[in-house]
Amino acid sequence: MSNISATPSSEAYHIEQYVIPAPNQTWERRQAQPAPLDPRAVRIKVMYAGLCHSDLHLWQGGYDIGRGQTYNFQDRPGHEYPIVPGHEIAGQVCELGSAVTPEDGLAVGDHVAVYPFIGCGECPQCLHKRDNFCEKPLQRVLGFQRPGGFSTHTTVPDPRFVLKVPVGLDLRTVAVATCSGLTAFSAVQESRSALALSSSVRGRARLLVVGCGGLGQWAIRLATTILPVAKLDVYAADCREEQLETARTCGAMATVHWAQGLSTDEVKERTLLVCGDRVDVVIDFVGSSQTTSHSLGVLQQGGTLLVVGLYGGALEHPLPLLPLRCHRIIGLHAGSTAALAELLALIHENNIKSPPIQLFNWHQLNSAVVKLSQAKIHGRAVIEVLP
Ligand SMILES: [Zn+2]
Ligand SMILES: [Zn+2]
Repeated sequence: MSNISATPSSEAYHIEQYVIPAPNQTWERRQAQPAPLDPRAVRIKVMYAGLCHSDLHLWQGGYDIGRGQTYNFQDRPGHEYPIVPGHEIAGQVCELGSAVTPEDGLAVGDHVAVYPFIGCGECPQCLHKRDNFCEKPLQRVLGFQRPGGFSTHTTVPDPRFVLKVPVGLDLRTVAVATCSGLTAFSAVQESRSALALSSSVRGRARLLVVGCGGLGQWAIRLATTILPVAKLDVYAADCREEQLETARTCGAMATVHWAQGLSTDEVKERTLLVCGDRVDVVIDFVGSSQTTSHSLGVLQQGGTLLVVGLYGGALEHPLPLLPLRCHRIIGLHAGSTAALAELLALIHENNIKSPPIQLFNWHQLNSAVVKLSQAKIHGRAVIEVLP
């Protein structure tokens, strides 16, 4: 049976969306006509879209990769300005392609989360539903290479990237779960084996979360919920003292102020005073030259550093210390569709709170972008898209 009879016509509505015309230009509001749906595509009426630091990088045109160089989006395949940004999307199914069947489990009107990290669909990673590990340069990530969620409607190329939301789950929380929540969840899951090893060797495991913005707050709440708490101590570090109090309310046992200007030795001394002489795993949600250096400095012999943040810069580190200290460095970006489904269920079942959400209306998007760029958003910014 086809769902097409329940599907409104593409002609029945207009699309209003924000675009980044070119790097560093003010985001503009534009009208568009809905394109005909591909047979397997799903059209979403966007209700909430989260604003992410990656949107700022897209606006600025790239990432600082240190030594005076920039990783430019325009040098990468498929990144062509103007771009409709927005990859933290929650909304309602409004139209199904002609080849979407009841077996796909979606119906017009369903409340859904959109998985944005869409890969090529053909490489070995994508065929194993590990789209965030896609091996082809031409990924199709929503809000980067494909039009994203700062739009009244967005199109997802396949129903497997559209996840029905558990009844009663707040759609603002759902929106911020799709990137910041998913990334923090994946990092916490990735740290599990290293922490388990430490707790079996030392009796307890010590995790340090670096950066207590939205991702760090997610990570503290998730770690204290899903990891074996009886054997785990979670600590947090940030250069902003006000964020440390937030980290403690999220469940961090103690916090340490990594004030700007401290040397790596000074950071190590004050961190080990707080964390009781060792740190087994660091999750760095900042990802700057300074935080990764400090993180490696505080790590215990055999410790693991997960670099998640995309602040930018280059890592300067004495190479012999890597083998001598048996340190592992892992980079991590987002997570799989299965991980997002698992996270949404976990949030629902355990009533896990998202970081504080600052809600902006559709007309305030540019001021939200400016506030985020000035570090004036505490938690996550979410745009309520036109009703
Ligand atoms: Zn993001
Ligand atoms: Zn792929």
